[in-house]
This record gives sequence, structure tokens and C-alpha cells, in this order.
Amino acid sequence: MPKVERVIAENLNLAIEDVVEGLLQASGMTGRIPTNVGEILGYLDLKQLSFDFMRELDFMPELIEKRDIRAVLSYNDRIIATQRQLHRNQTVFSTLHEVGHYVLPEHVQKFYVCSIEDLSFFTKLRLEAEANKLAANLIFQLDHFAIEANSFPLGCNVITDLAGKYGTSFEATARRYVEQHSQPCALVVYDKVEKHVEGLEFDEFPGFKVQYTITSKSFREKFFTKILEEKIIPGESSVYEACKKLDVTQTVENKMSITIVGKGEFMFNSQLFTNGYKVFRLIYPEKL
Ligand SMILES: [Zn+2]
Repeated sequence: MPKVERVIAENLNLAIEDVVEGLLQASGMTGRIPTNVGEILGYLDLKQLSFDFMRELDFMPELIEKRDIRAVLSYNDRIIATQRQLHRNQTVFSTLHEVGHYVLPEHVQKFYVCSIEDLSFFTKLRLEAEANKLAANLIFQLDHFAIEANSFPLGCNVITDLAGKYGTSFEATARRYVEQHSQPCALVVYDKVEKHVEGLEFDEFPGFKVQYTITSKSFREKFFTKILEEKIIPGESSVYEACKKLDVTQTVENKMSITIVGKGEFMFNSQLFTNGYKVFRLIYPEKL
């Protein structure tokens, strides 16, 4: 029995974090940033190949919508096929997601013993979430990222520096940064609005809306979990000022007053940057 299959068979109740720690150690990657995907694949004796799924993979079942697929694991061939059009860090994430299906207890059995249609909706969701969690933990090396992130004063520059260091997208890095920060901070992500919004003219500006909010544990205990309403008006909102910047390192800094239902008005420091598509706002209380 190959080593990985044996490890899985002998340790069916391993947590995802244990699997990640074991994989990083066994492949010699612990503490070496960025995580080298080639080393992990080499240890597992897997190969990653890029394909144009729309043109090259005729053998894929017709019922699967090919354009939505980022990667596929072929267990018997020991190959992870990734979609050629993906960006570099999407390829890394998708490859490690498939590694998750390969190494996590229960996944191989569920995927290959049952056919995929036999799985319930919730089982599919759970297995996908587990594979994503494994991929993120391999890339950020469990607590390694959080320990490093917490060693600097709060700021967008830490997010963009660490994204470069870990080889991760600005969005994934900003999310992990806030989720795992020990100090109170929140990330508000603004996405462009395609459709026309009543009462607002966007002659030369795209429209923006709050897409989602992420908060650190100490932030949501003291303040809130979600921005409910924010008027984002061209010429007034700092979101527009940030969206015109050409580089992630050009941050826009200001103060932001937020009224919290039942708690009153609070002043926050606000720092914004853009990756060219979305605008990210890091906020934290004036007095930490
Ligand atoms: Zn998957």
C-alpha cells in the first residue's frame, strides 16, 4: 500500500490541521515560505498538468459544466489537471484543493466508492469546504501566517507585503489577516456594480457596493459583524479615491465614523487599497 494511503487508513480520525502539519513536515516545507507546491506533489508522487478543459478534455463527462471546473483529480493516474487559464495563485490553490481530496480521510472513499451523484448536497459542501481549508492551511502554513501578521502594527501594508511573501492573492491574504488578528480590526470588501443604480450617475466611475465584511474575534465582540449600509458616492467616498490608485501599495487613509445600533457612534481608522478589481478597507478603532 503506498505511504499516503497507509497513513490515511491508519488515521481515519485525523483533523485537517494534523494532516497539514504532517504534510508540511514530510515534504520538508515547514517554515519555508512560500509553500512549494512542487515539493508537496513530489512527496505524494502526484503530477500537476495544465489543460484547456474546453478543448482538450473530451473524456470528461458531458454532465459536468467544463467552463466552471478549475481542477480535477485523476486518482488512478496520480494526476491533478488544472485549467490553463487560471492565474498562478489560483492554480496553486486549486492544485492544493485537489491534494485535499487526495489526502483527507474519507474523501477518496466518498469520491471513488460512491459516484458523485450519490453524495448528498451537504456532504458535497462539507468535502469542498474541507479541501479548501486544507489548501489554505498549506499555503499559510497553519499559524505561521497569523504569528507573522500579528508581529507588525495593524495596516494594509502588512497585508500586501505578506501576499507577496506567501504568494497569495490580496483578497485571500486580507481575509486571513483579519480573521486571525488578535487586535480588533475589520475588512470591508467593495465590488463593482454592473447595473444602473437609481439616482446615481456613473459617467466615468463604476458603481460600488459592499460585497462582504470580515471581522477579527475581538472586533466583533466589541463592535459589529457587518456593515449594514454605506452610501458610496463618486467624489465623496474614499472608495473612489482608492479605486483610482494604480498599485496596491498606494493606500488611502482617513477616519470613519460608524453608528452601531444600540451602542452609539464610534470613530475608526480606515485604510483602503485596490487590486484593480475590488477595493479593500481595513478599519480598526482609533484607540486600540
Ligand atoms: Zn473539490
